[in-house]
Amino acid sequence: MKATEQRLEEHLILEKPYYLAAGKEVEIALAAHKNGLPLLLKGPTGCGKTRFMQFLAWKLKLPLITVSCHDDLSTSDLVGRFLIRSGEAVWTDGPLTLAVRAGAICYLDEIVEARKDTTVVIHPLADDRRELPVEKLGELLSAPPEFMISVSYNPGYQSVLKDLKPSTRQRFVAISFDYPEPDTEAEIVAIEGGIDRKLALSLVKLAGMTRSLKESGLAEGASTRLLIQTGQLVRDGIDIHTACRAALIEPLSDDPELLAALEEMVSSIF
Ligand code: ADP
Repeated sequence: MKATEQRLEEHLILEKPYYLAAGKEVEIALAAHKNGLPLLLKGPTGCGKTRFMQFLAWKLKLPLITVSCHDDLSTSDLVGRFLIRSGEAVWTDGPLTLAVRAGAICYLDEIVEARKDTTVVIHPLADDRRELPVEKLGELLSAPPEFMISVSYNPGYQSVLKDLKPSTRQRFVAISFDYPEPDTEAEIVAIEGGIDRKLALSLVKLAGMTRSLKESGLAEGASTRLLIQTGQLVRDGIDIHTACRAALIEPLSDDPELLAALEEMVSSIF
């Protein structure tokens, strides 16, 4: 098996990921893919964007190549670079180039974290050219119909999207994600955390309270992910107060006043 094929195989999702839809997001994304349109997922951290992409990739039977963006991410990290092997310069595709060549899905998670000069490279891919210039190779790659680019960002933070040209920005089909309705969220927490529904519902109620602390300076309330992790600790025998502190309260803040407020919320529910 060629190295590229092997790299791609690793990104295929063989087992159906558990994903509970909140609305018409699956249908919208499938239609976007059919029409060669890029996807923009907005929403707070830990609310299901990555899981949604995994589900979509599984449904489309396409490899999902995910890049977690950070402020050190360079264009070469995305597109590729020459590496010296046994004294020779050998070209290695970056994840974006790999996805374009193979007709895969490339998901740039938290694109807002990436430097502006890095994100410029996605512009011609996201508009109707659907092209990727690989400057170091002097190549201009045309994306096959299967290829999809998808980016996520948290509108709570400053947006890099304002730097996209309106013509590019308006090419994106945008789906807004938020924490699910309490009943849906409890189902997710019960299944993923391995706990009973009653406890899951109480955790969701607690999360709702923490989310209201945003006005008091908490950057973000407890995400679905944190509730699942709390559930997992309880499932493994940690008592609920200890689990809430370790998996739900402490990850949220270092501020003594906010920690005390969160502690009180836990005591009021459990
Ligand atoms: P994000 O990418 O938005 O930061 P994730 O997709 O990683 O968040 O979601 C965190 C976790 O929450 C997932 O690993 C999954 O266990 C669970 N989750 C959130 N929303 C859903 C959903 N709609 N269906 C199934 N699981 C979900």
